Amino acid sequence: MTTNRPFQRALLNWYRQNGRSLPWRTTRNPYAVLVSEIMLQQTQVVTVLPYYKNWLRRFPTFAALARASESDVLHAWQGLGYYTRARNFHAAAKLVMNQHRGRFPRDLGQIEKLPGIGKYTAHAIGTFAFDQSVPIVEANVSRVLSRVFNSRIPIDSTEGRRVLWDHAGRLVPAKSPARYNSALLDLGALICLPRNPKCHVCPVKRFCRAKNPESLPIKRARPAVKELTENHALIIREDKILLEKSADRWLGMWILPPLNRHWKDDAIIYETVFPFTNHRVTLRIFRRRRRKIEDRREPWFSIRDLDSIPIPSPHRRAITALLN
Ligand code: SF4
Repeated sequence: MTTNRPFQRALLNWYRQNGRSLPWRTTRNPYAVLVSEIMLQQTQVVTVLPYYKNWLRRFPTFAALARASESDVLHAWQGLGYYTRARNFHAAAKLVMNQHRGRFPRDLGQIEKLPGIGKYTAHAIGTFAFDQSVPIVEANVSRVLSRVFNSRIPIDSTEGRRVLWDHAGRLVPAKSPARYNSALLDLGALICLPRNPKCHVCPVKRFCRAKNPESLPIKRARPAVKELTENHALIIREDKILLEKSADRWLGMWILPPLNRHWKDDAIIYETVFPFTNHRVTLRIFRRRRRKIEDRREPWFSIRDLDSIPIPSPHRRAITALLN
């Protein structure tokens, strides 16, 4: 585009009047910016807002997060899903404290070496915390740019990603890059919507080459959704419940004990379906007879204390429904 300046000006003028007021936009603290960016990966703004505030109250600095136990970190993350993000963030905080003496690096290459931080997140910290003139490309920006440039290369292909980062890099201004990048995100979130884009009120309409905006961006065919069934037991003794520490999907969190063999359907006391990546998981709960409590190694938890331990949402919902 030979019209970078007018494009930037039109976008920034619109943003001045219409930009979203978000708590992480009022800070340049790299820790707070990183909290928001990690939470916003795969999670919507409206869901993130209360978590962001609670997290900063509970772990206000890299030092506080690095000192926390894994159980406390997972508990604070509970309900946001994709718990690998929380575990990586915890590991990243420890590295910032141990390898960078508590100071978050400004160099993008150094930032990208931290666990769980890819190119997008590194660039987001670079621009929103340090006001560096670097592009960002995530879902909203991908949609806007593929439409503005009428690009029909799949955005989730290597070539598609390269083209988008090139476009974004050419457009980002040297002055006020953080405001410009926020404006681009908001244009995607508020105007250039996946369905029914509001082209009639779009501030960059005169630069946009999209012939059929709703057909963009192009994505490669998704893998088929796989069905999974998981059977677990509800085992209660007096005011205690038996749980097991997950060793895979919800590593480090507490779940209802899995049942490995086949159980008759009529013994099901609770059933729900939840999505997980490209899976559709049917969670079935069976009541089992009390196990002997003599073995003190078994993790029996007081039902009163369940709120204070990390339990993934599908299992917590099942426990709450069944105990009620
Ligand atoms: S004109 Fe329409 S398709 Fe183009 S950027 Fe604006 S909202 Fe998106």
